[in-house]
Amino acid sequence: DGYIQHHLRTGKQKIIGHGREVIGLRKNGEQFPMWLSVGVSENDELKLFVGSIVDITERKRAETEIRKLSLALEQSPNLAIITDLAGNITYVNSAFTAVTGYTREEVISQNPRILKSAETDPATHRKLWKTIIVGEVWRGEIQNQRKNGNAYWASVSISPLKNEDGEITHFISLQEDITIRKEAEAALITAKETAEAANVAKSEFLNVMSHELRTPLTVILGYTPVLSKIDNFPAAKKLRAELGKEPLDLKTISKLLDQLLRTFASLGGKMDGSGRHLLTLINDLLDLSKIEAGKMELQRTSLATGTIIESVCHDFSVKVKEKGITLTCQTDGKVVFVDEIRLRQILINLVGNAIKFTNEGEIRVSAEKIDNHVVFRIRDSGCGIPPDKLNAVFDRFRQVDSSSTRAAGGTGLGLAITKKLVELHGGNISVESEMDKGSTFSFTIPDSQIS
Ligand code: ADP
Repeated sequence: DGYIQHHLRTGKQKIIGHGREVIGLRKNGEQFPMWLSVGVSENDELKLFVGSIVDITERKRAETEIRKLSLALEQSPNLAIITDLAGNITYVNSAFTAVTGYTREEVISQNPRILKSAETDPATHRKLWKTIIVGEVWRGEIQNQRKNGNAYWASVSISPLKNEDGEITHFISLQEDITIRKEAEAALITAKETAEAANVAKSEFLNVMSHELRTPLTVILGYTPVLSKIDNFPAAKKLRAELGKEPLDLKTISKLLDQLLRTFASLGGKMDGSGRHLLTLINDLLDLSKIEAGKMELQRTSLATGTIIESVCHDFSVKVKEKGITLTCQTDGKVVFVDEIRLRQILINLVGNAIKFTNEGEIRVSAEKIDNHVVFRIRDSGCGIPPDKLNAVFDRFRQVDSSSTRAAGGTGLGLAITKKLVELHGGNISVESEMDKGSTFSFTIPDSQIS
């Protein structure tokens, strides 16, 4: 009434012809949103006002619902992409721009393939399209690419959006950034594989170890029962018989005695060899486990390279003479800051091997300062190492030809220990070799350690 009075008075049209949303009141006192518009028709006699009211409760509810859904999509922590049927992007949410680094303007009307990384299997994309085009939902994990080229892993679900007639009008892709989970999974798999490999290595090590320890022990234990019964020796039996005869045949007795002592010496020698081998093996093992447990501490002192090299070469002089080969050493007189006992151990292993595997020619041991480190070289003219075995020689219990090296003596642990001792000093070790020409083992001690 107020509006009409006002209109009649002033001629102003506030609501007439405009329509507006107002709160209506039902008979039962309930309020409701309504759309009120008033039209006017007039002729000479009469001015008619026609009010029309639309109950917009349902429309308002739908609007609120739509706003809520759109906010949910917009504020979702998951990436949301809506494309049209041709695959052109029509909507992306804030999570999308935050994760991918693209702005909305940059991606609207683009195809989502801008996110495709080189790592993604093309077959996955083909399967994805095949699924959604027939109205089904595709789910999977794919690796996508941000604007800056960095990859991210996403758990994706793509569903077709259909209109009331059931026709597909759009596709919606919801993606969860699972990069951190994927990285954690990959780290876990690596850790598991490393643990499994370590377990296998440990079992192998124990297998080899027990075999290595048993072999010399079997030799020793094999001979002790023989030695404990004098009748086991034919010469002893004969000697006893000879001693009972009259007159004594001293020549025969002396021959038999000699034979008996020789047999004892031979057995003793074998047992001694096995015992020593066992001791070396145990010492090597103790060293190795001490290093691997990080318990070996270096006692470094300043040492002239010449002094240590000459001393080691001197220790081998008798052996070298026996084999008829020459051993020479050469240094530039530099001082190195090392643990003397351990450097000696390294050199004894390398020079010892060189002598063991060289039957003619010469072995040269040298040390010189190059750039930031002192390089030690042990070059021999021996049998050489086959190229395919070259890297493995530093592994535990690796012997190129176990039958011949066993004959030459050796535990197969020497180079493994040597490598670790060099690394403990901060250096590294390498080998070059040519079959039947010889091998050169080189190791470095870095400058930071040189006083
Ligand atoms: P071992 O105690 O058996 O010598 P190492 O670990 O010292 O064990 O050496 C491993 C293997 O590497 C040897 O058994 C041998 O086959 C090979 N090797 C080491 N040094 C030489 C060398 N100077 N020339 C040829 N082969 C070598």
